[in-house]
Amino acid sequence: MGTNGPDSVASAPGSGTTVAGGTIATTVTTAASGTIGHLNPAIGLNITQFSVIHALMAGLYDGVFPAEQVLAKGDFGIGCGEALNGELVFVDGLIYRCTSDGRVSLVDETERVPFAEVVDFVPTLSVRLGDDGPLDREAFESRVSSLMPSANLFYAIRLEAEFDRMLVREPIRQHHPFKPLIEAMKTQAESELGETSGSLIGFWAPGIYQGISVAGFHFHYLDDARAVGGHSLDYTIASGTLTMQAMSSLTLRLPHTPEFGAADFEGIDNDMAIRRVESASAH
Ligand SMILES: [Zn+2]
Repeated sequence: MGTNGPDSVASAPGSGTTVAGGTIATTVTTAASGTIGHLNPAIGLNITQFSVIHALMAGLYDGVFPAEQVLAKGDFGIGCGEALNGELVFVDGLIYRCTSDGRVSLVDETERVPFAEVVDFVPTLSVRLGDDGPLDREAFESRVSSLMPSANLFYAIRLEAEFDRMLVREPIRQHHPFKPLIEAMKTQAESELGETSGSLIGFWAPGIYQGISVAGFHFHYLDDARAVGGHSLDYTIASGTLTMQAMSSLTLRLPHTPEFGAADFEGIDNDMAIRRVESASAH
């Protein structure tokens, strides 16, 4: 599905709407506070994940899923490049790769991707941010959390904003034999972008999916010029527009590879390791 951003936000149905499969409280609908829409879980709207975070933790960085197949499941999302070559951002039907040399390039549809999560982005909630002053990462995440009718669903989140600062990281391309992710990320590239304008693209995953996905928030950044980006570690938002959708359907595609079949996921201290890899700056 095509269009993104505030223009495609559905009209608000009011609070307490019943949806197929149950009821989840609807969020506020007050134009005065800059919030339009609702976050009923879209039952038919599915998040598709390719491979699991555990596989990356174990050092399985070989590409498995053709980018074309991933794109067929959604035009919006995040992932990582073959051999850990860059962070991927899926936006508006294109796949951008942000690499450790500070560049951004388009991913060819024939390239194989080791990990990705994608949706067809059809936001149902739009919120204006920054009218009361800048928001740091913590303030933004608590604002997003306050809009979610339940922490037990998946949410696709897009923020189009002006940022006072943005800290991104990109992994450095790995070579066989691959080291576990916690080792590989010790030499990640980090860039403090300063003032920048662009898209924060990502997801909320409930805590029980840690190891399958990344529990909590996981964002990648791509600037408007599509010239810089990466896995977002920290930022301050000057002003922008947040759009979101809720999903209550998850499809998980596991790699059909001998490496995946033989991998040992039991020996990894996953929760600590994932938190360190996904949220920590190396400095
Ligand atoms: Zn990431």
